[in-house]
Amino acid sequence: MTNTVLNVNGIEVIYNHVILVLKGVSLTLAEGQVAALLGGNGAGKTTTLRAISNLLKGERGEVTKGSIELRNERIDSLSPAELVRRGVVQVMEGRHCFAHLTIEENLLTGCYTRSDKAEIARNLEKVYAYFPRLKTRRTSQAAYTSGGEQQMCAIGRALMTNPGIVLLDEPSMGLAPQIVEEVFGIVRDLNHKEKVSFLIAEQNTGMALKYADYGYILESGRVVLDGKAQDLRNNEDVKEFYLGVG
Ligand code: ATP
Repeated sequence: MTNTVLNVNGIEVIYNHVILVLKGVSLTLAEGQVAALLGGNGAGKTTTLRAISNLLKGERGEVTKGSIELRNERIDSLSPAELVRRGVVQVMEGRHCFAHLTIEENLLTGCYTRSDKAEIARNLEKVYAYFPRLKTRRTSQAAYTSGGEQQMCAIGRALMTNPGIVLLDEPSMGLAPQIVEEVFGIVRDLNHKEKVSFLIAEQNTGMALKYADYGYILESGRVVLDGKAQDLRNNEDVKEFYLGVG
């Protein structure tokens, strides 16, 4: 039996009081699962992740219907900081590294509220074990590292919070296919070894379905199809409209 860790029940999201963007999105994330949230430009993937991590306010958005539960407990009104304390962390689209800080300083911003130095050092070593590239670049300013390294740094920073669930927004954006493979491979490794669950918003359907266990396809703010990654890969509509092989 699989344990559901995250439950999104029929959420509606409205921006600026008028623009209805999510029209009743439901999804679940099981313990230790990698789920992909797929769909084209503007389908509502980022909005769904932001709703879960309560980051819509800054965008003048709000959840107007539905509920979000973490292990059967409502979390819709918790602050992003409280969600991080409970193990839910988001890696934003566009990476958002601090350009003027070194890779290591960026990683350490992931635990600025903590003072347990030994634990922080252990976290850092763990991140470096998964991302050896970051270890070699630890003293480089983020601005002078590659897009792939910055994406790794953003994921590494999230890992510094010891998360149970990582919401990963468009990790493939702007990266060469080989680097995307490398990033997804590390995500899968983290999932296997550290039991971190991932919800990954992606436009790169082929790559996401290669690494995910389960997928949800969003169109205009609605989940139009969901299923095991393998079944979605073989689905004729998915092949035609999302994989370009129909
Ligand atoms: P992309 O891959 O392009 O980021 P997405 O699937 O993540 O697409 P969202 O970013 O969630 O989609 O956007 C969904 C819809 O909401 C789009 O029509 C977008 O224009 C709109 N939208 C997003 N943010 C805002 C905002 N702050 N105010 C108004 N509308 C917004």
